Amino acid sequence: MKTAEIRRRFLDHFVRAGHTLVPSASLVYNDPTLLFVNAGMVPFKPYFTGAEDAPYDTATSCQKCVRTLDIEEVGKTTRHGTFFQMNGNFSFGDYFKEGAIQHAWQLVTNPVDAGGFGFDGDRVWVTVLGPGHHPDFPDGDAEAVELWKAVGVPDERIQRRNLKDNYWNMGVPGPGGPCSEIYIDRGSEFGPDGGPVVDEDRFLEIWNLVFMQQELSAVRAKDDFDVLRPLPKKNIDTGMGLERVAYLMQGRDNLYEIDQVFPVIEKASELSGRRYGANHDDDVRLRVVADHVRSALMLMTDGVTPGNEARGYVLRRLLRRSVRSMRLLGVHDPVLPDLLPVSKALMEESYPEVTAQWERVHQLAYGEEESFRRTLASGTQIFDLAAASARRAHATTIGGDQAFQLHDTYGFPIDLTLEMAAEAGLAVDQAEFRRLMTEQKERAKADARAKKGGTATTEAYRTLRSAGETPFRGFTDLAVETPVRGIVKDGELVASARPGDVVEVVLEETPFYAEAGGQDADAGTLSGDGMALDVLDVQRPVQGLVVHKALVTEGELGAGARVLALVDGAARFGACQAHTATHLMNAALRQLLGQGTHQAGSYNKPGYLRFDFNAPTGLSPALRSELEGVVNAAVRDDFEVTARELPLAEARALGAQAMFGEKYGAVVRMVELAGPWSRELCGGTHVARTAQIGLVNLLGEGSVGSGIRRVEALVSQDAFASFAAERALVSTLADTLKTQPDRLPERVEKLLGELKAAHKQIADLKTAALLGNLGELAASAVDAGGYRLIARRLPGVGGAELRTVALELRDRLGESPAVVALVGGDAKPAVIVVTNAAARERGAGAGALVGVAAPHLGGRGGGRDDIAQGGGTDPTGADAALEAVRTALAGS
Ligand code: ATP
Ligand code: MG
Repeated sequence: MKTAEIRRRFLDHFVRAGHTLVPSASLVYNDPTLLFVNAGMVPFKPYFTGAEDAPYDTATSCQKCVRTLDIEEVGKTTRHGTFFQMNGNFSFGDYFKEGAIQHAWQLVTNPVDAGGFGFDGDRVWVTVLGPGHHPDFPDGDAEAVELWKAVGVPDERIQRRNLKDNYWNMGVPGPGGPCSEIYIDRGSEFGPDGGPVVDEDRFLEIWNLVFMQQELSAVRAKDDFDVLRPLPKKNIDTGMGLERVAYLMQGRDNLYEIDQVFPVIEKASELSGRRYGANHDDDVRLRVVADHVRSALMLMTDGVTPGNEARGYVLRRLLRRSVRSMRLLGVHDPVLPDLLPVSKALMEESYPEVTAQWERVHQLAYGEEESFRRTLASGTQIFDLAAASARRAHATTIGGDQAFQLHDTYGFPIDLTLEMAAEAGLAVDQAEFRRLMTEQKERAKADARAKKGGTATTEAYRTLRSAGETPFRGFTDLAVETPVRGIVKDGELVASARPGDVVEVVLEETPFYAEAGGQDADAGTLSGDGMALDVLDVQRPVQGLVVHKALVTEGELGAGARVLALVDGAARFGACQAHTATHLMNAALRQLLGQGTHQAGSYNKPGYLRFDFNAPTGLSPALRSELEGVVNAAVRDDFEVTARELPLAEARALGAQAMFGEKYGAVVRMVELAGPWSRELCGGTHVARTAQIGLVNLLGEGSVGSGIRRVEALVSQDAFASFAAERALVSTLADTLKTQPDRLPERVEKLLGELKAAHKQIADLKTAALLGNLGELAASAVDAGGYRLIARRLPGVGGAELRTVALELRDRLGESPAVVALVGGDAKPAVIVVTNAAARERGAGAGALVGVAAPHLGGRGGGRDDIAQGGGTDPTGADAALEAVRTALAGS
């Protein structure tokens, strides 16, 4: 049975039982605690915590998941993918344990022609929370045991485990409860008897049923928490691994061999000529490739772009690991253009967004592979240097610090370093490398811990949020009188704040715009009865709750007090100008570059905007001025700017632009400029007509990551001020160069020409002077081991001249064995050695002598036997370098 069919069966089973079908959320979901959605329950979290009312009693979904922690498991275990699909059924105060167990049992064991998965009931094992692990469950989850027995699972296949295995919580205060996992026995050929407590590979976990029945007040670990009270409304959250069920039903050994993944393995095997199943190491690599290519495809489809931080970094790692694994399989050509389309074809059936985003996705992926190939090329050079210096020092090992630097700075994976070292006959100090890696990980962990300190704050926000959302009045009013709902200081709710305190203030309603959708927060003041505060920042840390970070400048602010919340009108107008200008930029780019152009991020504040978008190459200067032209023409055309609310589907049908990863409700706000000229889903503030923007000055355009470009612009008064400053600069230059502004280019060109001629003249004079001096230099020749040797420093004499002088001197030394060694240059010293035929016959090679001299200059070099050059960075070693040449000749 195909994976897509198993998915459909699951959803049908629960829809038939009255569940609302909820589509998968984007992998990039606005939950600040998560990098990616990693379980089916994530989009339902607010319903489980009680922050929002569930719009249905029961629901079912097939959720795209990415678990970055499982990346190292891929290919090694049979059951871990970085991307996988979790099917789930959810009950919000509706059915509980009995319903959950019966639904699951029926789906798993019902015959295939009756809509089930058709697993033999005798192969099913389950686990439950055992007795004696928690005071609230002295006998363990006896209720679950009875219910499993009732559907027909005998007691010997119900295994009791501890809190770590069979109790679920979110790691923070909130709901928790025991869970029960369903395992399928794959058969005695896969491991020993004894059920999942003995072997989790033979007994494969397919489904976890979570019974949320308690509210936790503190959570220190999975098995260490305080229970506040039983939940008044008990909930069900389950997760079934689609890929795991698929590989069992398809009779495969692991989840990389299912119909949705295996064709990528086949393609990779074809490209590399390595047969799948022939060699364990190769098999693991092929599985890594298939897994990572699919995960990268799904992440990019949901708007992630490769980068050096957070999500972008995970994606980059996945793409690079795929490319690198293919390299280790012997493929050095680009691989993604062959592999990615295979995965695309497999995933389209269940995910139409894969087709819709393909243009963007494949450009990004192929661009990233190209840039990684460049990294590999430059890393290879660094590696060669490290190998050469190891050999020079007669060492057989490359230092752990060098391997770490290659990894850290050049993104050069350690196994590649190991492989290349082995090819070069060298080992790598892996212990030291691992030590440095651990050190770095510890640093990262400490950082993460420091950031997590916010849980207490979350608690305070949750309390304030439970009294309702903060209505935003700022579309129409810049001044609102309102009571203070609460004050948070250092993460705790406080009753009052005094002058000098920086606190977070929550109001019953607000005219302040909280930073969102790229628009910076409003500035302004809060004031009342003898007290005043400066608003420093405005954020929405949890859905629906606006928090004003403010400095108390006067008087005492108390919770419950009435304040006048007053937005700085001039700054707000500037923000409106910049935000509307951002929409102009977006629409203009799409007009010029095509409808495949998408916003990849934006930021705007009074006087300034920046806008990121996908494009394979940079904008030419001509295109850049065209862009500025289109935007400013739209300003002059004085388009009307309107906003209205409408159903999401309707807005989509009208072609409204949406941001990736943004969670949109059923009803959205759409901002239009002259109707169809620009339509975007947007919650920001705007000017009423585009002419109010005044002027937009495009500052520049550049790259911010593979396939992503950024434009920056000044808006309104700032745009004008920058033009004015440029004009003043031009006029100063014209005065200094004694010409008219419009003749500046001509004048500068002429001056540069004169300068170049002067430089050439100086160089010629210098060479002439040197050549005039050759007699004195030639007279300084000494004998070294039977060679006539001139070894001299010529500070300040560079490349071509140094060479001319060296060759001239050689000619003057006649036919007997002669060597000339010169060190010239300045901060960057250069060394040249030339030999004549007799010297070479006697055994002297210029290349070898440079090889001896250059290390003293902190560099390297080599070359032919008759003439060779090198260089370095340390001019103080010049005498030592020359002495080294003399010694080498004398000793030969
Ligand atoms: P495991 O111990 O095998 O890693 P888990 O305890 O992490 O599993 P849950 O968090 O309970 O799993 O997730 C629910 C279900 O999702 C599991 O029963 C399993 O079928 C599936 N699942 C979890 N992680 C993965 C993964 N990395 N790849 C594929 N399926 C997974
Ligand atoms: Mg796991």
